[in-house]
Amino acid sequence: MSVPVRDVSVFGDAITYFNEAANLLDIDPGARALLTHPSRQITVAIPFQRDAGGLEVLTGYRVQYNFLRGPAKGGIRYHPGVTLDEVTALAFWMTWKCAVVDLPFGGAKGGVTVDPTSLSESELERVTRRYAAELIEVIGPDKDVPAPDVGTTPQVMAWIMDTYSMHARQNVPGVVTGKPLALGGSRGRVEATGRGVSIVALDQMEQMGIKAQGARIVVQGFGNVGSIAAEMFAAQGSRIIAISDVSGAYHNAKGIDIAAAVAHCARNRTLAGFQGGEQISNEQLLELECEVLVPAALEKVLTQENAERVKARLIVEGANGPTTPEADHIFNRNGIVVIPDIIANAGGVTVSYFEWAQDRAGYFWKESEVNERLADVMLTNFAKLRTLAQQRGVSLRTAAYMVAIDRVVTTMHLRGVYA
Ligand code: GLU
Repeated sequence: MSVPVRDVSVFGDAITYFNEAANLLDIDPGARALLTHPSRQITVAIPFQRDAGGLEVLTGYRVQYNFLRGPAKGGIRYHPGVTLDEVTALAFWMTWKCAVVDLPFGGAKGGVTVDPTSLSESELERVTRRYAAELIEVIGPDKDVPAPDVGTTPQVMAWIMDTYSMHARQNVPGVVTGKPLALGGSRGRVEATGRGVSIVALDQMEQMGIKAQGARIVVQGFGNVGSIAAEMFAAQGSRIIAISDVSGAYHNAKGIDIAAAVAHCARNRTLAGFQGGEQISNEQLLELECEVLVPAALEKVLTQENAERVKARLIVEGANGPTTPEADHIFNRNGIVVIPDIIANAGGVTVSYFEWAQDRAGYFWKESEVNERLADVMLTNFAKLRTLAQQRGVSLRTAAYMVAIDRVVTTMHLRGVYA
């Protein structure tokens, strides 16, 4: 697995976006200071036994950025590039993501610095259980609710739910979301992030007069988010002309057979050896002529180095933080519309919210009901921020932050600060 090189702090970039929006809102310096500090950053050692016998120790994090609007909420990432800085940025983004779609949650994120593919299934289970045990006092349905992110799965959530429940001496399904259906997961949760990406993308394409039928789509990253988004676009008759994952990028001007690519990944774990397109570099993929580019992998892939060469008309951020502020300014200048991460990929946490609510009620919804409510949440809030963007003459990103910050600050003023 490649580890991204980061010369500027990811959290630093995230704060830049926050400030651009906060400058346009009348928020007092105290509120600004509070909202640019994480509430709690936790670092834990995770000793675990290798199958072969030796003891090794990993480092794990949980950052609970903000609790103003409800329990902290956000995924857990297993990746060799995980750092406290990255987890803090991701927790910061979760705060605004939950607020922009009006969920009763604060923001959090967790991570373990590990390549999960270097662990056996039983090692992965031991790492997960020890990590969960280290966080036992600070997570819970009313405190902080983890979920999957890059490198974690419904099975990992099942182990966290079980570890937590064993300590609590009772079943607590609502301690995590993104669980398998049989343990109190929600129908539609696995597909929710990719579905949400396509919902806002198709809505914006319509606004821009881009027909879904035949539209050329490029998807960077073919994990849960990228592959499902690609399937959803393909179902609308769009042409997915390039996809990529850790093994490389694959291009086919006639359109990639997404079902075949998904089947290939299911068999081989990655796209390596995929014959449905010619191999190109990751850089070439990002710079292809297309209507829609969906970065759906990691942070900082669109930077000042390549932004001028990006030819998409619309960028939809399936990943968290794929665009640096410098690149974002170039896109604004060049008239490339960007649907920012905090709304574009909010479908996942929205259905996590539905899962949490279903667990608490002990009553489960039909998939059609989940999908309908998801579309309603995404489109209602997207319309709100798009109107604000037009009224104020700002980018969709700045408008998204403005809506989110305004909601969090309103809560803060109503509650007052215990200071
Ligand atoms: N990891 C996902 C995200 O970045 C989902 C978080 C959640 O469902 O809590 O939005």
